[in-house]
Amino acid sequence: MQKFAYYKDTTMLTLDFHPTGRHFLQIPGPSPVPDRILRAMSLPTIDHRGPEFGALGLEVLSRIQAIFKTTQPVVIYPSSGTGAWEAALANTLSPGDQVLMYETGHFASLWHRLAQRLGLNTEVLSLPGTEHGVPVSWRHGVQADLIEQRLRADTQHAIKAVCVVHNETSTGVTSDIAAVRRAINAASHPALLMVDTISGLASADYRHDEWGVDVTVSGSQKGLMLPPGISFNVASARAIETSRRAKLPKSFWAWDEILEMNRTGYWPSTPNTNLLYALHESCDMLLAQGLDVVFARHLRWAEGVRAAVRAWGLPIQCADPAVYSPVLTGVIMPDGVDADAVRRIIYERFDCSLGAGLGKVKGRLFRIGHLGDCNDLTLMAALSGCEMGLKLAGVKLAGSGVQAAMDHFSSHAAPSVLRKAA
Ligand SMILES: *Cc1c(COP(=O)(O)O)cnc(C)c1O
Repeated sequence: MQKFAYYKDTTMLTLDFHPTGRHFLQIPGPSPVPDRILRAMSLPTIDHRGPEFGALGLEVLSRIQAIFKTTQPVVIYPSSGTGAWEAALANTLSPGDQVLMYETGHFASLWHRLAQRLGLNTEVLSLPGTEHGVPVSWRHGVQADLIEQRLRADTQHAIKAVCVVHNETSTGVTSDIAAVRRAINAASHPALLMVDTISGLASADYRHDEWGVDVTVSGSQKGLMLPPGISFNVASARAIETSRRAKLPKSFWAWDEILEMNRTGYWPSTPNTNLLYALHESCDMLLAQGLDVVFARHLRWAEGVRAAVRAWGLPIQCADPAVYSPVLTGVIMPDGVDADAVRRIIYERFDCSLGAGLGKVKGRLFRIGHLGDCNDLTLMAALSGCEMGLKLAGVKLAGSGVQAAMDHFSSHAAPSVLRKAA
């Protein structure tokens, strides 16, 4: 890539790849970090055993519960989301335990591979077939009836956990978690419900307690608007009870010592202090605006972006309007067009990063992120970059997506508590 060559040619190492204006980081995570959060992070790192730290720890642990809509303990790890995936399984399961997973996309597949590598006995449900060169199962949410059927057949209760992804970041499809809980209950099955909402949390509605989730997994660098580097488990009382008997090896990831020390606002090992400042700030921003306002604006942005994709005449990756992601939109390319070549033009010419097609859909689609800290005009800029790049790549467009998105945003007022109309 040109930029990389430029980087190699220069003798001075520099991270300033984007010397004029702001780079448009429109990938579905990491998402742009607001200046307010960057400033909070720049405070001095303090003694993680001192009195101020305990106060910070307690505040952060309590605020983050409101974001997960839970009264149950939230475990914070200094890791990316993958660590919290492992922690969820390692804390609750034993070697050889049977786990039922559902293939909604690449992230569901990665969690599956991680479970296999931990020595779990995994089984994956999915929908058959392909459309536009894309697996059908990657265009729909979790089919709760398939889970119910499978659990009903498991009369011996060999299956110990059901694992699903709430917002599949590789496709732009969400899943109805309440329906999965109802399916497990309808089958009268004791399996734990584990949910990855790494990219859903704080941009898409999520309710740990109300939906009866046993272990929720999340991360910092998506809807929470933080840099990468912290991740979360939320554990139900039953998950914590189960963890006392779970035999998979764990030490760093073990909930027991962390929960014990969290009572006074501390952690067993050095926590990610500056990211906790950032988390404190992020929770303040989200809770002051109100989560419902946050969710509504992401739904509106998603609708505007889809209006653009429809106007271009390109298929939206998500085939079921009931489960469109408020966080990102996958755009499928016409046959013979390499989505990565289109992305490269948009990056090199217009300084805008878009998400690649991952795994089974590599080169078939790109993903436009509309999570975290966006506004109408950052999205208009990103869509302009997409439209120019698509044309430069020789993709025949049915019409102007930019015009369609402008029409959408100007005819639907944004929900806002900060600036009430005069
Ligand atoms: C980003 C993401 C992950 C991976 O998290 P890392 O922070 O990269 O380890 C897992 N699942 C989903 C749904 C994601 O969006």
